[in-house]
Order: sequence, then C-alpha cells, then structure tokens
Amino acid sequence: MDSAVEPEVRAQIDRTLAQFAHDAIRFDHIVTRRAAQRRFIDMHMHMPAHWTLGRAAALRANVEQALMNEVPGLRASIQLLPSNVEAQFDDLADAVKAAP
Ligand SMILES: [Zn+2]
Repeated sequence: MDSAVEPEVRAQIDRTLAQFAHDAIRFDHIVTRRAAQRRFIDMHMHMPAHWTLGRAAALRANVEQALMNEVPGLRASIQLLPSNVEAQFDDLADAVKAAP
C-alpha cells in the first residue's frame, strides 16, 4: 500500500501552497502518496465561481509549477471547484473517514 509523502516533503508542499494564500482561494482535500521514487499530490483548489476558466487554469498552472519546483518529481493533480461547491464523492469519503 502506498504511504503519504515524508513529513518534510509535506511541510514543503504546505509552504508552497501558503504562497498562494488569498481570501478568494482555498486548498483542501490534500492527499499525498509516494510510490517508488514518485510522489503524488491530489487536491482541490476552490475559487470564486465568477472567475473565467482561463484565469482559473492559469492559477492552477502556477500552483502546479511551484509545487514541481519545490518538490522535484512531484506529480500534482488539482481539481478546480467553485468556492461554495464540494465534490460529492470526496464528501462521502470524508464522512466515512470522519466517522468515530
Ligand atoms: Zn474541496
């Protein structure tokens, strides 16, 4: 079974994402894993619904590039979502994980 990335790598990821901190943007559902020499990150990037697709895609590209610069070999998968929308399947998974 794959495990999460090393704590120092996760800290580097968090520092990188913090550079993009903004009232209008939210990163959540951050899941990391490593397999062999590869590291992966899956996450959501929430942004205002009125943003154009071009603006959203440009920001995502910037975030992906920053992550790859900081963590060589990292493969980022960033799902774009409006600020007030959560992905249904992730909600279900979280509900299961959060269950006592
Ligand atoms: Zn989310």
